[in-house]
Amino acid sequence: MLETQARPGAPLSAETRDGVRVITMANPPVNALSFALSGALVSEIEAAEADEAVKAVVITGSNGFFSGGADINAFARGPEPGGKTVRDVVAAIEKSGKTYVAAIDGAALGGGLETALACDFRIGSPAAKVGLPEILLGLIPGAGGTQRLPRLLATKNPLNFGGVQMALQMMLEGKPKDAKPAKGMGILDEIAEGDVVARAVAFASEMAGTKNRISKLKIVIPPPMIAIAHGMVPPEDKGGYAAHKLIDAIAAAADLDYQHGIAREFRIFQELVSSLPSQAAVHMFFAERELGKIPGLSADAKPKTIEKAAVVGAGTMGTGIAMVFANAGIPVSVIDVNPDQVERGKKNVADTYAGQVKKGRMNEDKAKERVESVKFVGAYDAIADVDVVVEAVFESMAVKKEVFAALDKALKKDAILASNTSTLDIDEIASVTSRPEKVVGLHFFAPANIMQLLEVVRGAKTDAETINTAMALAKKLKKKGVLSGNAFGFIGNRMLFDYVREASFLLEEGATPKQIDDAIKKFGFPMGPFAMSDLSGIDVFYKIAQEAPKVDYRQSEISHRLYELGRYGQKTGSGFFTYEAGKREPQRDEEVERIIAAESKRLGITRRTDITDDEIVERCMFALVNQGAQLLGDGIALRPGDEDVVWVYGYGFPWYHGGPMWWADTIGVKKIYDQIVTWRNTLGKHWVPAPKLEEAAKNGSFSPRPKTGAFN
Ligand code: NAD
Repeated sequence: MLETQARPGAPLSAETRDGVRVITMANPPVNALSFALSGALVSEIEAAEADEAVKAVVITGSNGFFSGGADINAFARGPEPGGKTVRDVVAAIEKSGKTYVAAIDGAALGGGLETALACDFRIGSPAAKVGLPEILLGLIPGAGGTQRLPRLLATKNPLNFGGVQMALQMMLEGKPKDAKPAKGMGILDEIAEGDVVARAVAFASEMAGTKNRISKLKIVIPPPMIAIAHGMVPPEDKGGYAAHKLIDAIAAAADLDYQHGIAREFRIFQELVSSLPSQAAVHMFFAERELGKIPGLSADAKPKTIEKAAVVGAGTMGTGIAMVFANAGIPVSVIDVNPDQVERGKKNVADTYAGQVKKGRMNEDKAKERVESVKFVGAYDAIADVDVVVEAVFESMAVKKEVFAALDKALKKDAILASNTSTLDIDEIASVTSRPEKVVGLHFFAPANIMQLLEVVRGAKTDAETINTAMALAKKLKKKGVLSGNAFGFIGNRMLFDYVREASFLLEEGATPKQIDDAIKKFGFPMGPFAMSDLSGIDVFYKIAQEAPKVDYRQSEISHRLYELGRYGQKTGSGFFTYEAGKREPQRDEEVERIIAAESKRLGITRRTDITDDEIVERCMFALVNQGAQLLGDGIALRPGDEDVVWVYGYGFPWYHGGPMWWADTIGVKKIYDQIVTWRNTLGKHWVPAPKLEEAAKNGSFSPRPKTGAFN
């Protein structure tokens, strides 16, 4: 018997098939468990409970999803009075006396998986994907996930507490599992090849009357396992705040009965929702979603499909960029004038993929396919039909112009000509072509196949189609594409120059490279400005400084002194630090400290001994924020959130501070503005508050004010 109850506008539908009630979530696009859907689910569950004709219930989702979980926007708000959450859905299933089966097609994430875990059984399709990704937003599962997953996995995998380990790892990583591994772990009871709902109905019918509640399972977690887990995650103030809380919640699955366990889980969840690291992660999530929104860009200019690509220059960047295309399934041809570089490039590509195979990240066939999709070719004729070319030759305007003129002649008329320049003027490069509207900057970061940031630089004549294509290409290449105007250093490096400027002035005033790097690392960066200079190359910075626009204040010359001594950084074994052969660990170098002291003396600066870590962090970070504000005012960056994405993904700014601009909001823009005004008088005229900083100081913030919480 089939009885369908479609309710127009309701986020679900329900029908009874042979005594089994099938509830189908239908809240496009991902069946997010909104308050409305949660409320409707609770009503359906209660109705099924009251209906004697219903012997079992199947919960499933429409459109190839089970459910993507709770609505991120709603985390902090909580339901309107009388509204329902996933916790209510889970509680209603828990209370029910009937048998529940989850039929999982596609993703069951967060609250979606928690709902499925509240059921007695879970049947997945081969496309099922299950995960508890809350940690990625600085949260923990808040609807029983931390209590049910360890109970389930520990029971299914009792040997040597393997299941507890699996649960810990899965929630700490936040990565979803595909159907097969999920079945192997015991999260899914079965994988149904055909119609997963039909199979779940048959299964539910067969099992009707059997209850298999995970909440009733009793497990043991040896205390050392919890202690070890705490020892393996970052400290609470270094991005590990939620991870430690998650481990505490998981421990409760063994220490407490279910009711007390979920109460503890919810207390922790609420505490995390209002914590700054979580708010920073949520900010980043939304900032990334905004990246593609470009005001004023014609929507008619649809992105073009990129089927073939080319790269000019087989150096560090060119080879990495070629692999980025190969990884996205786009065949790519590489050209270099230097045969040695071609050989080096080929070897680099082969070695990189062989390394992936060795690490078990890729099978041999896939690696072979990727290697073969990167072709090294000899002449521009060979790339005449590509849709996009990325130039990555030396950072010299003359060389770039020569290459662009040749590309313009050789490539089909509508091909996009992109440059990977770090600092040069895109308009000047475009000026030697007959198609400046098709010229754009695609600024990858080193190593290109690893770093997630891609600045898309818009020239004065770049047309909407080219920008849309470049932004869509960024997505296809799995990069965070951030649109930047055409200014020296674009967004990221322009901010970097001010940050390094301030760090260098601090050296002149009395600090050492190690002291500064340590303070910046303590703030949360993986490395300080001087280890970073040594990594990128002091020679590279030196050359950039020669081409930088002139400023009306003095620049520090310490790095020039190192350059004159051939101390280029890691590549020469010494720079601001020294490096033992084959090692990347920077070692303090007294010679450098003598050079710095001599510079202070030459400039008549009395070295101070009272420079604190706080002063170092403020000077360097406020420089970033002020330049960020300047770029907003100049229209180079579209939004403060774009700058945050650039700095978190391109420069290692700690995500749990939300990027420099969001961090500025949390500590108070007015405080930063006032400090910069003071520094203008005490430190010099390089401190000029940007007009946008002043404006934000008056308004209270750059973006809507985040709430305060832990670590404020
Ligand atoms: P690199 O010196 O490693 O490689 C440059 C390559 O270009 C060399 O192999 C050289 O033989 C080749 N080349 C020079 N002239 C050529 C020509 N006319 N035709 C074809 N090939 C030519 O340099 P890199 O570090 O890969 O930098 C390349 C570009 O990427 C520069 O514009 C640089 O500013 C930019 N960039 C570099 C980094 C980085 O960290 N290295 C990061 C972002 C952007």
